[in-house]
Amino acid sequence: MSDFEESLGEELSELRREGRWHPLTVLESPQDSEVEIGGKRFINLCSNNYLGLNTHPHLIEAAIAATKKWGAGSGAVRTIAGTQLLHEELEQKLAVFKGTRAALTLPSGFTANLAVLGSVLGEADAVVSDELNHASIIDGIRLTKARRYLFPHKDMPGLEQRLTEARGGGARRILVVTDGVFSMDGDIAPLPEIVELAEAYGAAVMVDDAHASGVLGRNGRGSIDHFQLEGRVQVQVGTLSKAVGVLGGYVAGSQELRDTLIHSGRPFLFSTSQPPGVVAACIAALEVMEKEPELQARLWENARHFKAGLEQLGFDCGQSETPITPVIVGEGERAVALSDELRQRGVFATPIGFPTVARDRGRVRTIVTAAHTMAQLDRALEAFADAGRILGIEPPRPAGAPAGGA
Ligand SMILES: *Cc1c(COP(=O)(O)O)cnc(C)c1O
Repeated sequence: MSDFEESLGEELSELRREGRWHPLTVLESPQDSEVEIGGKRFINLCSNNYLGLNTHPHLIEAAIAATKKWGAGSGAVRTIAGTQLLHEELEQKLAVFKGTRAALTLPSGFTANLAVLGSVLGEADAVVSDELNHASIIDGIRLTKARRYLFPHKDMPGLEQRLTEARGGGARRILVVTDGVFSMDGDIAPLPEIVELAEAYGAAVMVDDAHASGVLGRNGRGSIDHFQLEGRVQVQVGTLSKAVGVLGGYVAGSQELRDTLIHSGRPFLFSTSQPPGVVAACIAALEVMEKEPELQARLWENARHFKAGLEQLGFDCGQSETPITPVIVGEGERAVALSDELRQRGVFATPIGFPTVARDRGRVRTIVTAAHTMAQLDRALEAFADAGRILGIEPPRPAGAPAGGA
C-alpha cells in the first residue's frame, strides 16, 4: 500500500472511531414507498420523492419517448452544442411555474447554487447567509470573493445586524440567501420578514426551494408562492431531483439573471447538459403537478397523520412544519440505534448525526410521500412505538398522572 492509501486509511479509521462510518445502502428496487434491501421489503421513510413522481407513468413514458427520438445523452455543454428544444421548453415551463421572466436549468441543484453564487457575486459584493443553509450554498459562497456574513438560524435581529454591517462595508450588491424549507428540521424560512429587511437595506434575496417546490404553494410552486411574495425575490433556486422526481437544478428570475448565468455560471459553462430523457421527464412532471393537485393534498394528509402519530408517541419532532419530520434523540449513537431498531421492524429511515447536525441533535429524519398508504404509515408508527420503548424513549405522561405507571 502506498503512502497515499495509508494516509487515507488513517483518516477513515478516525471516522470509524468517531462512529461516523456509513456504508452505502443499496436498493434492489425502484425508489418507492416500499423498497427492497438485502432481499427484504421495507417501508421507505427517507426519500425526497415527495409526490411519488419518479414512478409516475407519464414521466416514464416521456423519458422513453424522448430517449428514442433524441438519443441517450446531450453530447455537449449548453453553450457549445448541448442546448436542444427540450431544454428551452423545460425552462419556459419552469419560469411559468415559478412566476418569473426566465429560468435556466443546470445538471443539479448543487451546481445551480454554485453557478448562481459564483456568477452574481464579486469582490465588491456581500452575501448574508442563514447559518443552517444547505452545503451547496456554503460551498457556493466559498467560491466567491464576496464578503461573507452569517446570521443565526431564522434570527431577524441577527439578519438586520449583518445587513447593517454589509451596508457599512460599502458593498455594491448585497444578496441575502436562505433555504425556503430547511432540510434537516423541516422548518420554513420567515420569508416575509427576510424580504422586508432586504428591501429596507437595498439587498436582493435568493431562496433555495429544493425542499419547498412540490410541497408548498399552489400546485407546489414553492415558498414564494406560499407567502405571496411574487416579484420580491430576485433569485429562486430549485431542484428537479426531489419532488419533481428526476434530476437537475434550475435558477429562476429575471432575464438579466439568466443571461449572467449563461455567460459566467461555471457549472453551466463547463458541465454537460441534462440528457433528453431526463429533460422530457421533468417537463412531464410539471404537467402532472398542474393536472393532479391531489398528489400534493395527499402528501400533506400523510405528513400530518404521521407527524401527529410520532408526537403522540412522545417523540421530539423539533420545529418541523413540513413533510420533513426529524425524530430527534440526542447523541448520534442513539440515532443509529433507533434506525437499527426500525430496520429490524421493516422500516427504512436513516440516522443523521454530527457534523450534519449538532452533536446533541442526532436524529432519524423521516420524509413521507404522497405514495405512502395510511396502512404503511400506521405500520411505521407501530415500529417507532416499539423501537422507542426498547430504547427508553418515554411518551410524555398526561398532566397529573403518577410517575412510574404501566
Ligand atoms: C438537495 C438540495 C440541493 C441539491 O439538489 P440536487 O439536485 O440534489 O443537487 C440544494 N439545496 C438544497 C436546500 C437541497 O436540499
